[in-house]
Order: sequence, then C-alpha cells, then structure tokens
Amino acid sequence: MNLILLGPPGCGKGTQAQILQDRFGAVQLSTGEMLRAAVKAGTTLGQQAETIMNAGKLVPDDLIVSMIAERIDEPDCRGGFILDGFPRTVAQAKALDAMLEEKGLKLDHVIELEVDEAVLFARIEGRAAESGGAPRADDNPETLKKRLGVYREQTAPILPYYRDTERLASVDGMQDIDEVTRQLVAILEGN
Ligand code: AMP
Repeated sequence: MNLILLGPPGCGKGTQAQILQDRFGAVQLSTGEMLRAAVKAGTTLGQQAETIMNAGKLVPDDLIVSMIAERIDEPDCRGGFILDGFPRTVAQAKALDAMLEEKGLKLDHVIELEVDEAVLFARIEGRAAESGGAPRADDNPETLKKRLGVYREQTAPILPYYRDTERLASVDGMQDIDEVTRQLVAILEGN
C-alpha cells in the first residue's frame, strides 16, 4: 500500500503515519525526519537544509525529490510506504507521479487531514512543552506561523492537483487521534 498523508504542519500526519505503519506494514517516510537526520549527521544535504528549515521555508524540490527517489528504492519500501511531509509543492507532486511511473509503482491513496489553524497553534505549543526543553528548532509559534504561510501558498495547491485526478480523500483531523485513525483505516480498507 502506497499512501500520501497531506495537511499543514501539526495536523497529526506524523502521529497517524506511525500508527498506520505499525498496522499495515508500510514504511513511514517523513522527509522532515530524513532532513533532521541529515542535519544531525552533518551531510552535504544537511548543511544545505539546516538554515532553510530553521527559517520555516522549503528545501529545494530537486534535493527532496532525489532524496525520496533513493529512499523508495530501499528494500523496506517493498511492502509499501506512507509519505509524510512530501510532496509539499505541485512540482514535487508531479515529480512523484513521474518517479513512481518510472519505478512501476502507483499511489493507492492520497488523504488530507483537515484542521483549523487556531488548533494547530495550540498543538504546536503543546509539542514544544512536551519535548522537555529541547523542542525542534522549528517548533515555536513564530516559525509555525511562517510554516503555515508556506503551507497555504505552496502546499495547499497540491490538493486540487489530486482532487482533479480523483485521488483525494479527506478526514477531519480535529477529532481525537483514535477517531482519525479509525476513519483513515476505513478508507485504506475500502469500507
Ligand atoms: P516537517 O517535519 O515535515 O514539518 O518538516 C520540517 C521542515 O523540513 C520543513 O519546514 C521544511 O523546511 C523541510 N521539509 C520537509 N519536507 C519537505 C519537502 N517535502 N519539501 C521541502 N522542504 C521540506
């Protein structure tokens, strides 16, 4: 099963991707996590990405697309993958379609988690508090505001791209975690 979870920062994509990974055996591919690992390891990609990430902006499409293309070729992705945080621009969505076609793969589902921005602020503040004094460098209200702006301008245009090709399903991400999972599972199981 190959799946994309879409939605603004803090909408719960990461949490749900992890739950679905355990349940369906498809690997969670979080581009944000992959980039944070690259920053930590001090790779060339990490050095290129760090300042951009801390400013709440998007890392260039070509870097992200090649990172994902290589990752999807790894053996653990054969049982399927859950894209979390990718694609984030229409160019990435188109590159993904081309890449999957070339690899002989296809997307089974594209699901959007819909949330309201006021709730996102409350969540991100909670996430910063829970991390016990070591929050992600980009998890603060000021950067979140920027990341939401970037989402609106650069990522939300992906939704019509998938809607127009009848591949988009939506789930209300403001319900509690278990209910969101239940509705995602119903879509994935075709109920
Ligand atoms: P996330 O953990 O998904 O919120 O991502 C954290 C940061 O990593 C984002 O604010 C971007 O700077 C960068 N990033 C993650 N995924 C992408 C992507 N698909 N395209 C561009 N930048 C990304």
